[in-house]
Amino acid sequence: MNLALDFDETYTLDPETWNKVIQLFLTSGHKVYCVTKRYEHLSKDIKNVLDIPIIFVPRSVAKMQAVKSVGIKIDVWIDDKPQSIYPYKINKKKLSAFHVSNKPISRCKK
Ligand SMILES: [Mg+2]
Repeated sequence: MNLALDFDETYTLDPETWNKVIQLFLTSGHKVYCVTKRYEHLSKDIKNVLDIPIIFVPRSVAKMQAVKSVGIKIDVWIDDKPQSIYPYKINKKKLSAFHVSNKPISRCKK
């Protein structure tokens, strides 16, 4: 499985926990990539803390298009801005058809 982990406002929210998660996936035989919209020349902090491949995506390009262009297929995306992944525009009329269940979390089946 290939995972894409965003950096800003995703990894940065809890680096210690994400490092454990990254190690868990790597030791289970999966690949983890950092896919960020950050400019590479402003990414010294990312390179200092992550020991996984980093894919720098230009602002005008969807992350999915960028990884595909370098021959990588991501199976699971972890990102605080999912709208940055896919090159589609959101249809607000269709969105109104969705709703969230009002069941309390404690009542969800395990
Ligand atoms: Mg982010």
